[in-house]
Parts: sequence; C-alpha cells; structure tokens
Amino acid sequence: MEPGQCSGTKDIDGDAWAKLVPTDSSYPVIEIRSRDTIICSEVTSSSIDKLKWCEIERCPDKDSTMIRSASLSAIIVDGTVVGEEAVDIKSGSEIISGPDRSGYLSYIFEVIPLQHHDSESLQISIDVEHAKCSICLNVWHDVVTVAPCLHNFCNGCFSEWLRRSSTRSHGKTQSVVCPQCRAIVHSVGRNHFLHNIEEAILQTFSSLKRSDEDIALLDTYSSIKSNLVLGMQKNPSRKRPLTFASDESNDVELPCPQCGAELGGFRCSLATTHLQCQGCGGRMPSRPESGVIQHCLGCDRTFCGVYWASQGVDADEFNVICHPDTFKPISQHTISRIPDSTHQNNRYEREITERCIQQTGKTLQAMISDWIVKFVNREIDRTNLQLKHAEMINMRTYLCNDCYNKFIDYLLYWFRVSVPRHLLPHDASERENCWYGYLCRTQHHSGEHARKRNHVCRPTRGNINM
Ligand SMILES: [Zn+2]
Ligand SMILES: [Zn+2]
Ligand SMILES: [Zn+2]
Ligand SMILES: [Zn+2]
Ligand SMILES: [Zn+2]
Ligand SMILES: [Zn+2]
Repeated sequence: MEPGQCSGTKDIDGDAWAKLVPTDSSYPVIEIRSRDTIICSEVTSSSIDKLKWCEIERCPDKDSTMIRSASLSAIIVDGTVVGEEAVDIKSGSEIISGPDRSGYLSYIFEVIPLQHHDSESLQISIDVEHAKCSICLNVWHDVVTVAPCLHNFCNGCFSEWLRRSSTRSHGKTQSVVCPQCRAIVHSVGRNHFLHNIEEAILQTFSSLKRSDEDIALLDTYSSIKSNLVLGMQKNPSRKRPLTFASDESNDVELPCPQCGAELGGFRCSLATTHLQCQGCGGRMPSRPESGVIQHCLGCDRTFCGVYWASQGVDADEFNVICHPDTFKPISQHTISRIPDSTHQNNRYEREITERCIQQTGKTLQAMISDWIVKFVNREIDRTNLQLKHAEMINMRTYLCNDCYNKFIDYLLYWFRVSVPRHLLPHDASERENCWYGYLCRTQHHSGEHARKRNHVCRPTRGNINM
C-alpha cells in the first residue's frame, strides 16, 4: 500500500468524510472514505514500513466516531492508552500511532464538514393531495403542465379534455380552458421534473398505484408528445384544429397563420420548415420555391412583412406580423431626414452634410435617389459598404430598415467627400482632416475635437484596414 492509504472494510463510498492530519507535515494526510476504515500508514518516524495500526468507525447516526487499535500494540487517543476497546473521538482529537509519544507519529482527526458530502440530495416533503389530477383524482400519470396557469394533469386526462373541447366547438376553433381554473390555455407540455415526483410518490405509496389496465387505457388517450407545445389557439378567429408536434423533439414550434389553415393557397404541413422573423418574432413557412423575398440581402436575416402581404394575410390581434412597409426594395424606401448613424453618429458632420444638400437646392430624397443611381451604375466603390452581398445590390434589392440606413450612411459619406472644399460651409472648409478619419474615437466623446477636425475622410493613422 502507498503511504497514507487506508483500506475500508466496507465499500469505498465516494468523498472523504474525515481525515487524519499528521503533525509532522512531511507525512501525507490520510483521507477516510468508508464508514469503517482500517488505517495503514507509517507509524514510527524511523521506519518506512506501513502497518495497519487503527480502525476508525463512524456510527450510523454520523454523530459520533469510534477508534480502536488495529495492531497488537496500543495507541494513544487524547492522552489515553487505547487497545482493542474502542473509544470516542471528535474533530480535533489527537491520535498517536503507538503506545508512546516518542518515536511514534501523531495525527489530528478532522471531520470534513457535512456540505462536502451530502450536498447533492435535498429532502423535499410533498402533500400527496397536491400531486393529484383534478380530472381523475388520482396521482398524476405522465403529468403535463398547462400554461400560463401551471395546473397539472395526467397526459391522458388532459388530452381527452382537449378532444372534447374541440368536439364541443363543432369544428369552430375556440379557446381551450384549464379544467381546474378555467383560464385560457396557451400551451401544454410534459413535465419531466414532476414526472420524477409522480414516480417517487407511487414508489412510496404503492396503494395509490392504478391497475395496469387503467394505465394502459389512459395511455391510449395521451396525445401530448413534446415537452412544450406553444401557440395553441393563437388565432381563434380562423378555423384551425389543435395541432401538436408529432415527434418527441424538444423544439418549441410557434405555429404560424398558415399552420392548420389554408391561406393564399398554402397550408403548412408537418414537414414545413419555419423561419423566425427578426422584426416581429413571429414565424412563417420557409418557401424559397414561391419566389417571395423572405431574407434581407444586406444582413441575411429573416423578415416576414413581404411574405404575409403576398399571402393576403394582414396583421390583426391574433396575427402578430410585420407591416410590409418594414421590408421593401431600395427603390421603394423613402427618406425624410439623415439617419442618426450617418457619419459615425457625429452630429456636427451631419449638420454640415445637411447644409451641403440645402446648398444644392435638392431635397434629401432627391439627393439620395441621384446617389443610388451612381451606386447602381458602379460609379462608387462598394468595398467598404458594411452589408453582405454588397456586389449584388441594385434598385430592386430588398433591405431591412437597419440595412437601408447603413446603405444611406454609405451614400452620404460619398456625397460629402465629393463636395469640393471651397463649396463646404465656411466653418467647415477651414478644418483639417483628423488623422484617424471616420474611425476616430475621440470625435465621440470630445465635442471640441469633433467640431475642430473633419471626420468625413479616410483614416491615415491607426488601424486603417477597416
Ligand atoms: Zn388524471
Ligand atoms: Zn389552471
Ligand atoms: Zn406554419
Ligand atoms: Zn415579422
Ligand atoms: Zn438587413
Ligand atoms: Zn478625430
């Protein structure tokens, strides 16, 4: 055995609950893992042999610990000679590995605080009455939770309630209410945490178990398969049967207006992939074959406004969808003021650009239209345009509002650098260029610097690779 090892007479059971700390730190600490342990280590400072010399046993109540000698010679515990008769030890007890203080090693016994080994399980007490289904009055079986009221039922019981709710409404879709509190149910899902509690209760109180036939019958009603099904009855004004995910996937699928109802000649199937709109958070079926634009070319993100307009679906209190105006081709965007983001949020430069436009006698809209034409005709370099697929952009390109603003920022930069210095407003024409150009950070926190230097120019210092 290695120095400091000890052998348990019972199975090793995980973390150490106590240790023997040698007063001479050149010897190793002995960890005690089993409830009943024979300690085997060096006993004298002169010998390198490891000997079995004592047995330490923790009483089952874990409140007290006993020690006895495990060899023919006695040991000394807290000053008392101990042989085969066990005595109590406590955290802090001093143990000498032989019958004499001199020549033998001395150890301090230390109990490791409880949280180190009992931290993983927590006892919870539950009133069994709170673990019963209010439909069948038994302890839940395959428990499901409905939201937002969070009442719990057997999967079979609630599934049957759902089936009857839809029969009662004669095919007209109507809200499902919670059988317990009558709150409108928005979602239902299997509750794995409560399922563990359900099983623990039935193990403890086996008299509450239902017969195998009852359980088998209940299981035939169960229709809630996924962890969470959201969006039931999102649209009660339209004919839409309750739809449940048919697989065991954990996907939270928000049905879209075309799930369960044919609109614009299309109805989603179980195989339909849905896209989540970045504008409203709602879903729409992914339909590249339809030719309808569903992604912004500038950022590749998904936007639903164009799609729903093409399907004849309007926003109403049940359909949270984007207005088509939020996502449109460049040619249809309009602009009435310079975006705040223009010229790196530097308002001095925006004011100067505004005055430059006024000098030309054109409106901002007319100026932008001119520059879009220059852009489309490739009179402007596109390299630094911070949009994806910049090379593909033309008048008909659909851009989200964020990307359109970035596009405008880019055009206004090129407009400004095209204005000859002598045509700039007087206070702007005298300024020198800031070395860091549009990348300058000082312009954001020093109004003085932002006013004194021109920042609508390329950087000539610093990180100019941007
Ligand atoms: Zn039930
Ligand atoms: Zn409820
Ligand atoms: Zn759908
Ligand atoms: Zn949307
Ligand atoms: Zn975009
Ligand atoms: Zn600067």
